[in-house]
This record gives sequence, C-alpha cells and structure tokens, in this order.
Amino acid sequence: MPSPTFASRQSRQATISSPRAGARKEEFEMARVAFIGLGNMGGGMAANLAKAGHDVHAFDLSADALDAAKKAGCLPVASAAEAVKGAEAVITMLPAGKHVEAVYTDAVFDNADGGAILIDCSTIDVETARRINDAAAAKGLTAVDAPVSGGIAAANAGTLTFMVGGSKAGFERAEPFLSDMGKAVIHAGGAGAGQAAKACNNMLLGATMVATCEAFLLAQKLGLDPQKFYDIASVSSGQSWSMTSYCPVPGAGPESPADRDYAPGFATALMLKDLGLAMAAAQNVGADVPMGTRAQELYAQFAEAGNAGLDFSGIIRMLERGK
Ligand code: NAD
Repeated sequence: MPSPTFASRQSRQATISSPRAGARKEEFEMARVAFIGLGNMGGGMAANLAKAGHDVHAFDLSADALDAAKKAGCLPVASAAEAVKGAEAVITMLPAGKHVEAVYTDAVFDNADGGAILIDCSTIDVETARRINDAAAAKGLTAVDAPVSGGIAAANAGTLTFMVGGSKAGFERAEPFLSDMGKAVIHAGGAGAGQAAKACNNMLLGATMVATCEAFLLAQKLGLDPQKFYDIASVSSGQSWSMTSYCPVPGAGPESPADRDYAPGFATALMLKDLGLAMAAAQNVGADVPMGTRAQELYAQFAEAGNAGLDFSGIIRMLERGK
C-alpha cells in the first residue's frame, strides 16, 4: 500500500474530534437519550451524559445499577423498551454480542423513532455488529458500533476513546453524544469497523503486555535493576504503552496496577474476552495471528489458575514462576 500523502493524512485527521474543546458544546442541544446497561462502564457513561445536560432514561436488569444511575441524575425506567421510546439516541453498554442482539431484537428495533441514532458501545464480535447494522437499516434505522478504549476510570472521567463503525451520516449523528463521554471519537470505517479496530488494538495490547513482562523478567535474571531497564527501554525501540503507561513490574515506571497488587485496572477476564473476539475475527478472514494466538493461550492459562479477576498485567507472576 502506498504511504499516505500529506493531504490524505489531513483528511483522515478531520474524522477525529476532540470534543471538549470550547465552543463546540454550545452547538448541541440537550437530547433525550436511552441508556441500557449501567454496569462498571455504562454507569459512569450515563452519568456523564446526564452531567452534560441530556435527559437520560436509563435501564439495567440490576436494581442497584438503577439506583446509582438515579443518584447520578438519570431517570431510571422499568424496561429497555420504555427507555427507547421517544429517545433521540439509544446507547447500549452490555457484556457481549448475545446481550446486545437480544436487547435490539426485543426492545430497540420495535420502539425506536425513525430519527433516532442507535449506538452500541459494548465490545462485541464484528459479525454481530454488522448483523445489527444491517437489521437496523432494513427497518429504516441508523446504527453504529462504537466500542471504547479506556477502563472504568476513563468511563467515570469522561475520557474514553470511541472507535466508530458505520456510515458517515451515522457517525456524525453519534459523535455529539460520544463527545460527552470521551476525549476522542474516531470514525474507523463502515459497519463493524469500530469492533474490528477494538479487536486488533486489544490483541496488540495482550501481545505487548506478555512481551513486556518477559523482557523485564529476563532483564532481572541477567542482573539488571527493573527501574534501570525501564529507564532504558522506555526511551528505546522496545517501548510500548504496556511499558510506559502500565508497567507490569511493581516500583518501576509510573504507578500502575502492579503497585496495587494487580487489582484491576483491566481484568484478565476482559482481556481474554477481547482476545477471543480477535481470534474469531482472524479466523473469519483467514488471517495468521501467531502472537495473538499465543497471548490468548497464556491468558487462558492465567485465568484458569484463578486469576480472572486480577489485572491482566499480573500475568508476569505466572511467567515468573514459569508455569
Ligand atoms: P458490566 O458487567 O459491569 O455491565 C454490564 C451491565 O449490563 C450490567 O449492569 C448488567 O446488569 C447489564 N445487562 C445485561 N443484560 C442486560 C439487559 N438485557 N438489559 C439491561 N441491562 C443488562 O460490564 P462492563 O465492565 O460495564 O462492560 C460493558 C462492556 O464494555 C463490555 O462489552 C466490555 O467488554 C466493555 N469494556 C469494558 C471495559 C472495562 O474496563 N470494564 C473496558 C472497555 C470495554
């Protein structure tokens, strides 16, 4: 593929927005928003929409989640269908593809206004995201997939990154709402492209975390002080986010889950889920992903040993033991 020209780079930049910059906000009116799935991530996201002035009709199967949403300024409602009726934007933040598809089939498609934008922020498989987009289009509705990068802290702080798959028109309608919950909103491409970007990003994250762990362990066995190795590698070609923002070694680099006994952060179970989605996507298109495959095997082993709730950087403990 030829390298992009300066002009094409500029035009790509135009689809990335940093919404919190000043006057933009005044351009958007308050809207009625349905928010379905008020868990670890959705709770903070719905709260930020309410804080931005939207009228958030919130639904979750959990009564505790509904109570928390009420305290955060949302209006708890009795069903997903009730939340969806009359909403200008319908946002879902659910555990997996089967939950999203069920909520869309049971509540969203039959109750959404024709003018509503349907935004799924859950991390799900590319195929289901495309199927939902197609089903929405068949009913004259516009849907986008908009998974996030950033964990619970970013959801609460409104600093998530959204990667959006869908039509340009869908992206433009979703963007103001996503802007109220994030620091960057990027149009990745057509339907499913947001989920594809998320799967590839997290496969890369899993592989670089394992590689970072093993490099620190080898450095230590070779007699290097971890902080000294960090000082060198963090400004050398081995540098990565796994090292400089999330160093898996306690006491080295900036504060990270390693300094809190590997309390998450980003739980191993979620990393394993995302690696599963990446492997399924790779299989569907016949892509060879040996590092992603190995990362998935190692994280599965780590989770099976009772560490699913531990931060994913805690895999350094298993690698240190050699089993
Ligand atoms: P969670 O389990 O804390 O929340 C999911 C919520 O959905 C729960 O409150 C549950 O009661 C609710 N729910 C399930 N089925 C429902 C239904 N039919 N109707 C209404 N509510 C229903 O999960 P989470 O950590 O908030 O993650 C949500 C999504 O975000 C997942 O797809 C996850 O992979 C993704 N994600 C999570 C993180 C993270 O750090 N937690 C980071 C990035 C992306």
